[in-house]
Amino acid sequence: MVSRDPVADLRRIAFLLERANEATYRVKAFRSAAATIAALAPDELTERAAAGTLSKLAGVGEVTARTVAESLAGEVPAYLRRLETTDGTDLHGAAKTLREALRGDCHLHSDWSDGGSPIEEMALAAVDLGHEYIVLTDHSPRLTVARGLPAARLRRQLDYVAQLNEALPEGFRILTGIEVDILEDGSLDQEEALLERLDVVVGSVHSKLRDESSRMTRRMLAAIANPHLDILGHMTGRKISAARSGVATEGDRAHRRGMTRPPSDFDLDKVLSAVVEHGKAVEINARPDRLDPPKRMLTAALEAGCLFSIDTDAHAPGQLDWLGFACERAALCGVPPERVVNTWPVDRLLGWTDTRKH
Ligand SMILES: [Zn+2]
Ligand SMILES: [Zn+2]
Repeated sequence: MVSRDPVADLRRIAFLLERANEATYRVKAFRSAAATIAALAPDELTERAAAGTLSKLAGVGEVTARTVAESLAGEVPAYLRRLETTDGTDLHGAAKTLREALRGDCHLHSDWSDGGSPIEEMALAAVDLGHEYIVLTDHSPRLTVARGLPAARLRRQLDYVAQLNEALPEGFRILTGIEVDILEDGSLDQEEALLERLDVVVGSVHSKLRDESSRMTRRMLAAIANPHLDILGHMTGRKISAARSGVATEGDRAHRRGMTRPPSDFDLDKVLSAVVEHGKAVEINARPDRLDPPKRMLTAALEAGCLFSIDTDAHAPGQLDWLGFACERAALCGVPPERVVNTWPVDRLLGWTDTRKH
């Protein structure tokens, strides 16, 4: 009997649950069990599995204990087998080509703000997905509901990321970044000097989303003209009901039916012209509950000549695998890989964000 790695199996289950957009508490059970099991001495693990006392450990429940026992017995755990058979979506044609061209992800969160997992877990999941880099973009201070980082904490995060990068596998790195709030006057919610230091800056509107068109347009134009902003995040702010993966393959009409927050009002032509004029990128946000911008606007952005960034806005490791949802939409609209900044080699990406800093 060759036993499997129970920690890897527990983590894989957590990853697949996150990718399926399952509730955090369900995923947490597997992530905490993985941490508990990883900390055990191998002898204690086998003894407890034999004696049936795994579930006495803090953080290990009935289901996770059974999973561990199955792994140790050399079987693919039943829970994992079930999840693997409902595994993700297959991409074809242009969507597949686009997905394969992506080298990283420019928008994701860790537990430093409102994400559910430590930075290192996000990074390791990205390594497994074959990414060359991720840009860590935790929230800015005004977004208190999302535990946005004040300047001092962001500075600490930068030091921490530098340390983590030392220990991560060759050929992979965490780039520094932020999802900075675009404030009501269009200014960005972080110290100038810090924005200057970051590799990539995603700017998003999170407040007063129902504001009248002229004010929203002014606000967005000011942010786009700000030399620190690189990528305009989820540009309409819409929310659609999309609890599960796979929803992204449905048409926009279905999404409209399931709209939970309509897109904000702004002058699309003016915003897109400004994006092109300043050489910024429009984000194609892959979250099943966002899929922002809608296809009509995505097509307009393509015709206007915008650059794009295809991002997951992941708040958990498994969500890093959502890129395919955005690739499907981008491919449907005919977005060519070379217009997508995260298909570029990392040096070119950094060169692009750097040009505006001087
Ligand atoms: Zn956001
Ligand atoms: Zn975000």
